[in-house]
Amino acid sequence: MSNDRSEHGAGRVGQVKEVTSLTNPIIKDIRALAQKKHRDETRSFMAEGLKLVIDALDLGWKIKTLIYAKAAKGKPHVEQVAAKTVAKGGLVLEVSEKVLSTITRRDNPQMVVGIFEQRYQSLKDLRPELGQTYVALDRVRDPGNLGTIIRTADAAGASGIILVGETTDPFSLETVRATMGSVFAMPVARASAEDFIRWQKSAGVKVVATHLAGAVDYRTIDYKSKPVVILMGNEQAGLPEDLAREAGALARIPQAGRADSLNLAIATGIMLFEARRHLLSLDARA
Ligand code: SAM
Repeated sequence: MSNDRSEHGAGRVGQVKEVTSLTNPIIKDIRALAQKKHRDETRSFMAEGLKLVIDALDLGWKIKTLIYAKAAKGKPHVEQVAAKTVAKGGLVLEVSEKVLSTITRRDNPQMVVGIFEQRYQSLKDLRPELGQTYVALDRVRDPGNLGTIIRTADAAGASGIILVGETTDPFSLETVRATMGSVFAMPVARASAEDFIRWQKSAGVKVVATHLAGAVDYRTIDYKSKPVVILMGNEQAGLPEDLAREAGALARIPQAGRADSLNLAIATGIMLFEARRHLLSLDARA
């Protein structure tokens, strides 16, 4: 399979390469995506699984490299995504299972892996509308939590995630895995705490901050009259004073038992489904 056109003007010629050597420089480069530094430099990330790759392409994400196992060769869906990748100027690699295991660091890897260009939404372009819900996460540290929150936000019909301060990377393999594909559906923006505070003042939103010392029961809050931003605190430290002070309401989820607090992803899920309760129904899957 070959193609002389490149939609992106980089002059690269799409092609299928067969790779079996673990020391192949392209494979080394892909393996290096396990490091954040390399992901940042190349603005790339890896997603595993044929369905995810198909969904990502449907949603317009730019694929840089498609990698599939020899055993997947000739399967119609694999051939289709390979053709799409080539048509978009990407590289297609047919590799041994051993190479796939090394790339994904798994014993039983998925047959198909895509390397995509990272995408961030700019905070200043976020103009929430009535009926929309965003989740802002203060310094979220745990990749599993972030991935679960992205997935849950997608399921609740939220419109995006805002990462505030130094956070874990939404494009790490662990986070992407935990999103179960929702990384391609949920826009993600980044901001410093100062920029977030500035933005929230001008965006016409209601910021509902969650806090273990919150005085307001989260079930009594009005989530209907403005677009809502649910603000969640860091796993260890909770929400800092400056962010808590600026919020329209400090909400608490009542607890019983001996646990000091809820897990961040669980608390975010509870808040999201309460904030969007009036918009969700079994009949309408938006
Ligand atoms: N030691 C931290 C503290 O004192 O805030 C615990 C943080 S908790 C693990 C992580 C975040 O989940 C909190 O900052 C808050 O946003 C949310 N959270 C957890 N349990 C909550 C509850 N019962 N009510 C409101 N928010 C909660």
